[in-house]
Amino acid sequence: MSDPSLLVTNPSHSDPGLAPDGKEIYYVLFPTPNLDAPIDWRTEGPRYRDEVVRVLEERGYRGFGDAIEVESITTPLDWEQRGMERGAPFAAAHSFLQTGPFRPKNIWGENVVFAGSGTQPGVGVPMVLVSGRLAAERVLGRDPLYRSRALR
Ligand SMILES: Cc1cc2nc3c(=O)[nH]c(=O)nc-3n(C[C@H](O)[C@H](O)[C@H](O)COP(=O)(O)OP(=O)(O)OC[C@H]3O[C@@H](n4cnc5c(N)ncnc54)[C@H](O)[C@@H]3O)c2cc1C
Repeated sequence: MSDPSLLVTNPSHSDPGLAPDGKEIYYVLFPTPNLDAPIDWRTEGPRYRDEVVRVLEERGYRGFGDAIEVESITTPLDWEQRGMERGAPFAAAHSFLQTGPFRPKNIWGENVVFAGSGTQPGVGVPMVLVSGRLAAERVLGRDPLYRSRALR
C-alpha cells in the first residue's frame, strides 16, 4: 500500500503501571489482506514488520525501531489459528459494498438472528452495538422491514 491507514495506541501513557519504570508499550495496527491472498506470512510477516517500523518513523515516530526491546507480531496466520475465517479478525472487509445494507443480512430463515461484525451494519464497536439493537428489534418484531417475519 502506498498510503496505509494505521492505528497506534500507547496504553502506558495513561496507565504507566503497564510497563516497567521508564518504559512504554505501543500497539500498532496495520491493514493486511485475508489469507485468500497469495502471501506466505511466515516470510512476509517479518518483512512487513520492518515496513511498519519504516512507515512509523517516516510519519514522525523517530527512533521507534531502535527503541524496541520486546515485541510480538500477529499476522493473519495467527488470527486463523484463533479460529477466525481466512485469518480476518474484522470479518468481511468494511469496503463500501460490504457495509450497511450490503453486508450479509442478520436474519436467516424464519428464526435465526445474527448480531456482530459479520452481519449488518458492519465492523467496529459502534456498528456492532447497532447490530445488537437491530437483532433485538428483529426478535421482537419491531423492525417494519421484517415485521411479517417476526419470531414467535
Ligand atoms: C486488532 C483489532 C483492533 C480493533 N480496533 C478497533 C477500534 O479501535 N475501534 C472499534 O470500534 N473497533 C475496533 N476493532 C473492531 C471491533 O473490535 C470488532 O468489530 C468487534 O469487537 C466485533 O464484535 P463482535 O461481537 O462481532 O465479535 P467479538 O468482539 O470478536 O466477540 C465474539 C465473542 O464470541 C466468542 N466466541 C467465539 N466463538 C465462540 C463459541 N463457539 N462459543 C462461545 N463464545 C465464542 C469470542 O471469544 C468473543 O468473545 C478492532 C478489531 C481488531 C481485531
